[in-house]
Amino acid sequence: MKIDDLQLKIILDSRQEKTLEVQMASGNYYVKSSAPQGKSRGEKEASFISAEEALEKFQNIKSGLLKKEFSSLKEFDNFLIKLDGTPNKSNLGGNLMLVLSMAFCRLQAKEEKKELYQFLREELIHNFPLLDPVLTDYQPPYFFFNVINGGKHSPFGPNFQEYLIVPQTQNSEESLNLAKIYFAGLKSWFLKNNYPLSYGDEGGLVFPEKDDEKPLAILKEVRKDLLLDDKIKFSLDAAASTFLKKEDDSPVDFYLKIINNYQLLSLEDPFHEDDLENFKKLKSLIKDQCFIIGDDLTVTDANLIEKAITRQAIDGVIIKPSQKGTITETLEAIGLSLKNQLKIIVSHRSGETMDDFIADLSVAANAWGLKSGNITQKEREIKYQRVKKINDIASR
Ligand code: PEP
Ligand code: MG
Repeated sequence: MKIDDLQLKIILDSRQEKTLEVQMASGNYYVKSSAPQGKSRGEKEASFISAEEALEKFQNIKSGLLKKEFSSLKEFDNFLIKLDGTPNKSNLGGNLMLVLSMAFCRLQAKEEKKELYQFLREELIHNFPLLDPVLTDYQPPYFFFNVINGGKHSPFGPNFQEYLIVPQTQNSEESLNLAKIYFAGLKSWFLKNNYPLSYGDEGGLVFPEKDDEKPLAILKEVRKDLLLDDKIKFSLDAAASTFLKKEDDSPVDFYLKIINNYQLLSLEDPFHEDDLENFKKLKSLIKDQCFIIGDDLTVTDANLIEKAITRQAIDGVIIKPSQKGTITETLEAIGLSLKNQLKIIVSHRSGETMDDFIADLSVAANAWGLKSGNITQKEREIKYQRVKKINDIASR
């Protein structure tokens, strides 16, 4: 495929911060892609450059990209990786590389007259042929809705970053309805108890007290009042690198207590990202009672995921293309995870755009979950809606 036209624009994300949008055209086809941005970024993520710097870098590489014929996504991404020439993408920036890589996928899918999720699934099967049966036996992802925002995603409140509800249905419409009902119930609880309604970065409520357990107790009470005990489970993203150091006393006992008291479905990043030993310890203590998920620990990097697998430290991984910077490498991380029976949760970032690429990625990867914040923000709801639409197409 030859790219005929390529433009880079600065747009605003859900936090009203500058981010990148690429427009790419080939023949009769034209696509757009935009980059999300994280706030609780793992140390080992691909580098991130400012939107202004990205515009400059883009001008330097644009003509090279327009001149060349690319026969595959892999060839396109490898060309970018070579142009960048650094181990952590600090030259071109992971964000600039990612918008280009995503746009190329979309364009290639259009040329091949495929939906994006079909194109991505075929790329995965092409690279990991043994995964064909796993990937073609499609089960829609569970939705992980963030209802209380803490940590870096909130001006004050608990250390833990995300208190999530997970409706226990793979029917997208039913899941979205349950989320609506539950969130309305949670807002009523806040009002009844004289807590103000204010919202964090991912559209969940801000809980004003510095207490990590109380939000879970509230979530449980609301679920009981709504008679939804058998329909909704809870998950947590502690994002512990934002408040724990590797050498800090380990809160293993606290985690054991809350896993039991609230029957947590999954627990993401319970320890500092360099503290693999405690991930392993907690996982061995809880067996399969609750799934331990790596995010800052593994940053969508096949080598780090492999290391965590070898140490038996995790049951699943968060997949964020923006942590790695190209879709080819993101698919490598997914393939390796699936080969090792890890659960996959494809995730948005705390600064989001109207790009719904990750919805197609979650379907292509047959992910266990899609984590896209709260439906109160259009940038997040659009991803859940895209999965719903794909499911509607698939069931026709
Ligand atoms: C996360 O930690 O899962 C997350 C979405 O946060 P951020 O995008 O701020 O890194
Ligand atoms: Mg996380």
